[in-house]
This record gives sequence, structure tokens and C-alpha cells, in this order.
Amino acid sequence: MAAAILLAKAGLQVTVVERRLQVGGRTSTLEQDGFKFDTGPTFFLYPRVLREIFSAAGRSLDQEIPMLRLDPQYRLVFGSGGELLATPDRQRMTAAIAAISPEDAKRFHLFYRDNREKLTRFTPVLESSFENWRDLARWEMLKMMPLLRPWRSLDSDLQRYFSDERIRLGFSFQSKYLGMSPFRCPSLFSILSFLEYEHGVFHPVGGCGAVTRGLARVATEMGVEILLDEPVEEILFEGRRAVGVRTARRRLASSAIVINADFARAMQRMVPNHLRRRWSNEKIESKKFSCSTFMMYLGIEGAYPELSHHTIYLAEDYRRNLDDIENAHLLSADPSFYVQNACVSDPSMAPRGMSTLYVLAPVTHEHPNVDWKKEQPRFRELMLRQLEKIGITGVEKRIRMERVMTPNGWNKEFELHMGATFSMSHNLRQMLHRRPHNRFEDLEGVYLVGGGTHPGSGLPVIFESARITSRLLLEDLRIEPQWEATLPLAAESLYEPVS
Ligand SMILES: Cc1cc2nc3c(=O)[nH]c(=O)nc-3n(C[C@H](O)[C@H](O)[C@H](O)COP(=O)(O)OP(=O)(O)OC[C@H]3O[C@@H](n4cnc5c(N)ncnc54)[C@H](O)[C@@H]3O)c2cc1C
Repeated sequence: MAAAILLAKAGLQVTVVERRLQVGGRTSTLEQDGFKFDTGPTFFLYPRVLREIFSAAGRSLDQEIPMLRLDPQYRLVFGSGGELLATPDRQRMTAAIAAISPEDAKRFHLFYRDNREKLTRFTPVLESSFENWRDLARWEMLKMMPLLRPWRSLDSDLQRYFSDERIRLGFSFQSKYLGMSPFRCPSLFSILSFLEYEHGVFHPVGGCGAVTRGLARVATEMGVEILLDEPVEEILFEGRRAVGVRTARRRLASSAIVINADFARAMQRMVPNHLRRRWSNEKIESKKFSCSTFMMYLGIEGAYPELSHHTIYLAEDYRRNLDDIENAHLLSADPSFYVQNACVSDPSMAPRGMSTLYVLAPVTHEHPNVDWKKEQPRFRELMLRQLEKIGITGVEKRIRMERVMTPNGWNKEFELHMGATFSMSHNLRQMLHRRPHNRFEDLEGVYLVGGGTHPGSGLPVIFESARITSRLLLEDLRIEPQWEATLPLAAESLYEPVS
């Protein structure tokens, strides 16, 4: 949708072909019996990229998609003992850290200072395309190496500031947004937690699905045609050049194609293997894929007014839990999980007198070790018991609506390879020029956006991929984008935090 807006603004005639009945993919709204849930993303971070995209189209993000800045941002409950109420207020946050580890509180400002610099220096990298190793050797990249410490994991980098593992987890669990363990995730990604503190955690009113609906509304108003319920069955080629797509109903000719569908699935389903040199089916299968998630979307009688908007429970043996997910491919006995209680700040998500609970547990992507047909009822029971660890008791009696999603569901309903909800993993071997390129290197006239290409998974960088890709596409068509000069008008600080 973001790419459609940018390309339409540059004067192209754009058609979006969507297989589902609604736009948004993983960032859409599940609606049943008057209850509304975000399907996937619930943390809206770093609105700046989207603000710039709207502004490029002559619109205002703040008017199109109202958002609430949350304070506290979330509550962390440690299975090993203790809690941390994360707030963007530096003084309160320092005090919250001190309550767990006074020594670590003294170094919080250093974490802040270093990551502010890291983010500033790394932003141009996230905004550029990476097409070969020479892009890596660019002077700006080389200058950044000492700061990025590519040889360190996120957790070991955080040890420079925080000695208490719980505090480190508080600043590193965000690697789960990429579907990765902080013990393996590159240290660069300390900018993820920093982004939250510096730029805020937002809740778009109506949920993150309101963002993609807002984008679709603006795109339509700009003349973009959106075809729903229309799966692309194959991309049409002349030689290696893509010339259109075929759906069950029609053939559409085009001079360029932007693929947003899951990369691995789209290639295997829509592009013949013999046309792909670098990304053959065999190569794709050899890649490391992210974890998946087990979801429960619960419509609840009444509310849990004491429960924060976002609560994260980190398993007592967090390393074991991560190892179960990433290496052993087993279901943990004490799974970490996350709960969104959106109605505490946005009552529009449920009928009057009711509320919603969105429960997410990271689990292995599809693997022969876990047969979800057998495991689903048992794991559901376990998750209902787990909820007591963050103070949600007696929930079963209050459930009025329920949907469960397993990795098999992500695979079948959302067409995600292995049900890997965060695409290919973000290790150094699968990042930057080693990720499938925005101007897709194996084919002509094919471009990628979304979590499967550079910069990677997570909404802010996915929106950035739309901008990078649109620039490359327009460059190939020799069209000068008319949207380059626009600057963000509003700062995140314009928002009054809601508690
Ligand atoms: C449970 C969960 C929680 C998450 N939480 C967060 C979070 O809090 N914050 C955050 O920033 N990120 C989060 N993420 C990560 C990130 O939001 C997702 O990775 C992101 O939504 C993926 O966007 P995408 O555009 O790459 O893919 P998608 O949203 O999956 O979009 C792909 C689109 O292509 C369509 N499509 C697929 N195949 C075809 C076909 N054959 N023909 C036509 N159309 C097709 C799909 O229907 C879909 O609309 C979360 C992800 C999940 C799953």
C-alpha cells in the first residue's frame, strides 16, 4: 500500500492485487461478534517513516490515522522474579531499573547516549538499497563498524551497560519483533528498544489494522485500483522479464511488478524455479527462517482494568525457552508470552461491557517435532494457565469469543513459508545485500517490499522498504519521484502520552 501510494504519486497507474477479502495482510483486523483484534502487529513504532510517506502524498498521517502514545509503554514480568514498568520518562525509567538493579540504573544514560548515536549513523543504511558487497564497503558503512560491533550479539553488547540479566532482557526482548533470540541477534538491534524510548510506542486507534486501511483509503483516493479476493497464481514472463500476472479471473499486463507476498512462498508459487539463479528453491530451503507464533484472540465479558495495554512475560528460563523455539523445535513447558489488553486505552475494540485479550506465544516455525493437530488443545490450556502469571485469573469462564492460530494457520491462511511469521531470520548472513534485493536480482521488472527484503521485518522498516523499492523502480523507468523533498512536519513529541 505504501509503495502503491508513492508510485501513484509519481504518476504511475497502479493496481494492487490482494488474495484476501481485506487489505493489510498480517497488519489487518480480525473482527468477530463485535470484537476487534490486530491480527499480527500491535506495537506501532517510529511513525516517522510513515509520516514522511503520507506527507510525500500530500497527506497528514496524524489526520488520517489517529494514534495514542502509550505511557507506560509496557509491563515486563520476569518468570525469574520482579517486574519492570517501561516508561519513556527517563527519570521514572531510571527509578524502575534501580528497583531491580541500582548499579544498572547508573548506566542507563550511557545506553541511551550510545544508541542515539547508533541510530543516527545507521538510519542512512536503513534508508538505502543494498545490491552487492560494494554497498557494504561504502565509506559510511566502514565508519560505522566500530559502533555496530558486528561480532557481538545483542545480549553481549548490553552487558556493557547492564549486569542484571532481567534488565538486559528488558532492552533486548524486542529482537523477538524480528523473530530472533537476543543471544544470536546482531548487536545493531539494540536500536529497537532505544526506538521505543526515544520515539514512543503507539497504538493506532482501532488497532494497527487501521494503518493499512488508512493507507488503502488514501491509495484509492489517489487512483490506485485495489482488487480484493484475487490471488495471483503466477507471474507472466517474456524470458526473464516480468510482463504481468495471472489470477483465476484475469491476466493483467504491467511494466513492473512489486511483490509484497511472503518471499519464499511467492517465489515457489509464482516464479518457475529455472528462471531463478540466486534464489532457487534449493537455496531458499537452505535459509534460516524466523520463529512463528501461537495466538489466542479472546473476546472477554467485562474487562481487566488493572492490566496494562501491553504485558510481556519472560520465561523463568528464558534461554531454554529460546532454545526450544529456535534449535530444539519443541514446545516449552514455561513459554514466554505477550498479552495486549487494548480496551484499556481504546474501548472501540470491543462491544460495550466487553473487552479483548490478544495472546501471543513465540513458538517454533513448522517442524516435524510439533504436530499442531495434537498439540493445540493442550497448548491452549497451558497458555490459559500461563496468563495467571501476569495476574489474569478466571479467564476461561469469561471467554465469549475465541480464535486460535497456530503456525499451520499462518502458513495456510496467510501463505507464510513454514508459518515463519517474521520471514527469513535477520542474522548477518541474511541481511543487507545478502537478503533478497529490493530490485529483485534474479528477474527483470520485479521488485520486492515487505519483511522478506531489505531492511527486514517490523513495520517501520517494512514501510522503508516501500520507499527504497519505489525509488529503484522509478529510477528504472527513468521517472523522477516528485516526493523526495518532503520532510516530516510533526515530531513524535506532539503526542500527549496516555496512561
Ligand atoms: C503475530 C505478529 C506480531 C507482530 N508484531 C509486530 C509489532 O508489534 N510491531 C511491528 O512493527 N511488527 C510486528 N510484526 C512483524 C510485522 O508486522 C510483519 O512482519 C508485517 O506485518 C509483515 O508485512 P509484509 O508486508 O511483509 O507482509 P504481509 O502483511 O503478510 O503482506 C503480504 C500481502 O500479500 C498478500 N498475498 C500473499 N500471497 C498473495 C497472492 N498469491 N496474491 C495476492 N496477494 C497475496 C497477503 O494477503 C498480504 O496482504 C508482527 C508479526 C506477527 C505475525
